[in-house]
Amino acid sequence: MKIASIRTHIVGEVRPFLFVVVETDDGIQGIGEAGITWREQAVAGYIEALTPSLIGEDPRRIEHLWQVMLRSGFFPGGRIGAAAISAIDIALWDIKARSLGVPVYELLGGLVRDRVACYPHVADNAVDVMVEDCRRLVADGWQFVRFNLPSQGDQLEPRVSVRQGVELVTAVREAIGPDVGIIIDAHTRLDPVDAVSLCRQLEPLNPFFVEDPVRCENAAAIGRLRQHTSVPIAMGEQYATKWEFREPIEQDWIDYCRVDLCIAGGLTEARKIAGWCETHYIAIAPHNPLGPVSTAACLHLDLATSNFAVQECARIPGEVLAELFPKQVPFKDGYMYAPKEPGLGITFDESAVSKYAVMEGDCPRLHRADGSFTNW
Ligand SMILES: [Mg+2]
Repeated sequence: MKIASIRTHIVGEVRPFLFVVVETDDGIQGIGEAGITWREQAVAGYIEALTPSLIGEDPRRIEHLWQVMLRSGFFPGGRIGAAAISAIDIALWDIKARSLGVPVYELLGGLVRDRVACYPHVADNAVDVMVEDCRRLVADGWQFVRFNLPSQGDQLEPRVSVRQGVELVTAVREAIGPDVGIIIDAHTRLDPVDAVSLCRQLEPLNPFFVEDPVRCENAAAIGRLRQHTSVPIAMGEQYATKWEFREPIEQDWIDYCRVDLCIAGGLTEARKIAGWCETHYIAIAPHNPLGPVSTAACLHLDLATSNFAVQECARIPGEVLAELFPKQVPFKDGYMYAPKEPGLGITFDESAVSKYAVMEGDCPRLHRADGSFTNW
């Protein structure tokens, strides 16, 4: 079996998506997805640069090809490169499992759980509306809710956002009781001084975790925060490859690992990161604001990984890109279930690509009161 062609598709619905189709000379197709949103053209260019190294190679040698993709240019692939590698890697796992007639999770060690608990996104809104949204989600079966640290429209003043965030978590906790997991995503919007304030005030409200309380470039900032709060901390959605995860894991700076399979390096790299986490009793909670391939890849990893906590599920399977992916993974009442079909267990109708136009625009932006840029 040899890789015969690699095709990239950038499409849009609600947000941009990049999918890659890897096809073999005996007609098996694998599907992958990359995760650096709003920079899809750069990732597509990296995939194009990798393609000559892959055509004619045996797609079942996934680990070997991963090493070639990351290291063959001499300069190790960065975040854009790792996203490109992620997409191809996921497609290779899909091909390998299809060629053997088994679901991907069977190649990852088999099922360790019956179902995968998920959390949805609660949209930014007035507190009373968000509280009602959380109540409804819990009534629908979800055991977790997740929302952003508030901004003030397109302005974010940290001290105001910290106060609003504490008020929001307080109101939601009061509404949904003590047992539902509350996740607040600070989305790298705070510096350590304000993150400490937020986390300490949230401690009595028992959030499941506070996500990305600080920016990711200097991982030691999480260590500084760690010294000041007992609140569980989750990070990692912006990290590429195991090397960026090494220090936060080894230093016990994080409680939950937010590995993104479409950025970190695919299933190959995410399994290694999950194994590294296991030695520190850190559970994975994979990042997944993306499309049906990301969701499926996360599900297979979660099903086969002992140290798994909860799965982000921003879009319920089947509710996005429905014509492009006629078959998506099983979902019911806040949980995903194991697909029975070979490969990732999803189908891709390439003829439907033209129905999902490429989206114009860029990532949303926030500013401080003085007009300066601050993270969205
Ligand atoms: Mg996040």
